[in-house]
Amino acid sequence: VIEIRDLHKSYGDLEVLKGVSMIAPRGHVTSLIGSSGSGKSTLLRCANLLEDSQQGEIIFNGEPILWKGAGLDRRPADRKQVTRIRTNLSMVFQQFNLWAHMTILQNVMEAPVTVMGRDKAEVEEKARMYLDKVGIGDKCDVYPAQMSGGQQQRAAIARALCMEPQALLFDEPTSALDPELEQEVIKVIKALAEEGRTMIIVTHDMRMAADISDHVVFLHKGLIEEEGHPSDLFGNPKSERLKQFLSATV
Ligand code: ATP
Ligand code: MG
Repeated sequence: VIEIRDLHKSYGDLEVLKGVSMIAPRGHVTSLIGSSGSGKSTLLRCANLLEDSQQGEIIFNGEPILWKGAGLDRRPADRKQVTRIRTNLSMVFQQFNLWAHMTILQNVMEAPVTVMGRDKAEVEEKARMYLDKVGIGDKCDVYPAQMSGGQQQRAAIARALCMEPQALLFDEPTSALDPELEQEVIKVIKALAEEGRTMIIVTHDMRMAADISDHVVFLHKGLIEEEGHPSDLFGNPKSERLKQFLSATV
């Protein structure tokens, strides 16, 4: 369970998150939708402790990872602890961020071996299994530049899975892909959703959101404007802003 309470985040004078509270239950897929600039990526980055915030709390599986109060000293000071939290709340970015000088297998093994200090042979076995699982088990010895965008994004997902995180955060995992490659990645995400993985997915793809989410959150200018089950949110939107947003995206 990822619980976010009253999160505030500003960049200088620009208030990007104005008190966001949400819960992503264990085993559920929560989609985060909203216009460009509404604060979706910022919210994920704060949840992953990649970004400092000014106020609010985050509790992950009962453990406070960001605590109440104002100011910036609200998260674990110990870097090891921050790393542990980050690996447990693994993030998949829009621009896959694979290491160009490493093979796909090396990319997937990198963090578990060097950051988490896990046994290399064991990690390799896991890495091969996860690459198989996302359908690119034959690409272990290939470099990222030799793969399509959809394959690279699937490798990035395998890399996140190889850390065996308790939850996955996806920031527009398909938006850098053309529609055909997008489908490859959606299939992988769907399979993960069916396994009951805890996930928060920022997406511009309303069809995917409707298809795989247990809960959808609509963010508007740094505040949650509406949230609910996808059938309600998409089928019977209440707020004018959400109606507008949905009619503009279809
Ligand atoms: P998109 O759909 O375009 O990805 P988003 O909802 O993810 O949008 P954010 O990336 O969270 O939006 O950005 C929210 C606001 O914060 C924007 O106005 C953006 O310009 C601003 N912002 C984001 N990152 C920074 C930064 N590092 N410094 C200053 N302003 C930032
Ligand atoms: Mg974004």
